[in-house]
Formats: sequence, C-alpha cells, structure tokens
Amino acid sequence: MRKEIENKLKIKAIDIFGLSEVIGPGVASECLHQVGLHINEDHFIPEIIDPKTGDVLPEGEEGELVFSSVTKEGLPLIRYRTKDLTSLNHEKCQCGRTLVRMKKCTGRSDDMLIIRGVNLFPHK
Ligand SMILES: [Zn+2]
Repeated sequence: MRKEIENKLKIKAIDIFGLSEVIGPGVASECLHQVGLHINEDHFIPEIIDPKTGDVLPEGEEGELVFSSVTKEGLPLIRYRTKDLTSLNHEKCQCGRTLVRMKKCTGRSDDMLIIRGVNLFPHK
C-alpha cells in the first residue's frame, strides 16, 4: 500500500509511531531511507524484553517494546510495556542519525484487536 500511495501522490511516505499513553505520535519516525523508525532517545529510553519473563533481550532480537520517559513531567512512565513486538538496531543509519531504530511492529504480545479505531481486548 505504501508504494501505491507513493506512486500515485509522487511522495515519499514515512511511517511514524506513537502511543496515546506516552505522548501520541512523535515517539519514533522513519527517515527518507525507510530502514526503521528512529526513536527520539532524547525523550524516551527503549528496551526490548521477553514478554513472558520480562528479561531484557540482546540487540536485534524481537520482543516486547518497553519505554521509559526522560522528559515527561506530568505523567512520567518507567518501563512502560507497550505490548508491541519489534526489535532495535543501534547501527548508524544511512541518513547519518545515530538514534536507535525500531523495526515496524510485527504484532502484539496480547490479543488486542483494533476494530474501527477502537482497541478491544477479548476475554476467553
Ligand atoms: Zn535514518
């Protein structure tokens, strides 16, 4: 779908990432190289954990994304579990930025569904 949008509008479409619980959009964004989303590390400390054990995973392994906020004052978050599954990459990007990059989320560690913009958590 991204290629179709780019071709029809003659633009470079970039992906952004955010969570309402954190600050909404603006937590991370792709650059024009589209090789992962640069996380704004001046505001957030990201970690990847094993969703079952909570153990921090080595770089490059996929797990649950966890954020701690550095600059939020009203409602700081410490090791907030997003339930989103992804991995982190600390290699310098082709654009020159050294901010850690996250892969586009591949799924969730829970069963949440988004239906018409509403988050639903099914119970069994
Ligand atoms: Zn980049």
